[in-house]
Amino acid sequence: MRRLLLALSAAALLASPVAAAPGDRAVEDLRILSADDMEGRLVGSPGGAKARAYISGRLREIGLEPVEQAFVFKRKDGTEIRGVNLIAKIEGANPDGPVMVVTAHYDHLGVHDGEIYNGADDNASGVAGLLAVAGSFKGAPPKHTVLIVALDGEEGGLRGARAFLETPPVPADRIALNINFDMLAKNARGELYAAGGSPNPWVKARLESLVPTASVSLKLGHDTGPDDSFDNWTYQSDHGVFARAGIPWVYFGVEDHPEYHKPTDDFATVPQAFFLKAVDTVIAAARLFDGELDTLPAR
Ligand SMILES: [Zn+2]
Repeated sequence: MRRLLLALSAAALLASPVAAAPGDRAVEDLRILSADDMEGRLVGSPGGAKARAYISGRLREIGLEPVEQAFVFKRKDGTEIRGVNLIAKIEGANPDGPVMVVTAHYDHLGVHDGEIYNGADDNASGVAGLLAVAGSFKGAPPKHTVLIVALDGEEGGLRGARAFLETPPVPADRIALNINFDMLAKNARGELYAAGGSPNPWVKARLESLVPTASVSLKLGHDTGPDDSFDNWTYQSDHGVFARAGIPWVYFGVEDHPEYHKPTDDFATVPQAFFLKAVDTVIAAARLFDGELDTLPAR
């Protein structure tokens, strides 16, 4: 489609400028966030601050005004660590109605024994997806208010998500749904999982309706069984904090892979075609959930 448009004359392009598709920058965002100079984006580190500055700049470029939400926590050894979430609000047509919170964590594991844990899939990919969703909603405004939230301190404790819900920027009872992205980039079978449907029939029906038209092979699951089981991902990423608060949630992510939490999770090992399909899919999902958010049964 975009290639055809490029064939149009310059005059036609000037008459009706063609907006870039929201996913167009996703590969570049992923590449920059997982580059060596981000030093693995450890919470409280200069690399983490550099990643935050980049995300903040991209949100402003999209036309949003990100606000920082700082929080402090203690490591097991007693060291105090300062994390910072970034929150950008996109006002919906009904500003007093339910609010959808879209999240992705930008922190990762930092540097260990001289090796940089770049975290391309975990979770530069989710942040790139988050920015693409922000671009989509800025381009065609949502029906409901959407908070775009880049969370810090996920690795080792879901700290940013906890801080977000301890002092939410809107009353907690208005937060109707959390959509969380954590690892959108790598799967050898071209499969992306959507969890959150089993505990919530409303969520399940909407996820099922996405399956036939999704750009990826969209699988539902990983949301039942014992809390501590490997196959139940309910509490494995930031959406777990929303789940514990009784807020309906949707999680998009891939199965673990050989590069998971290894220095080899870098840009070179990302299958870009699959990643772009995953980004397309999460944009479609975010738009669908926003469009129908007012039909979500009150809790
Ligand atoms: Zn992660």
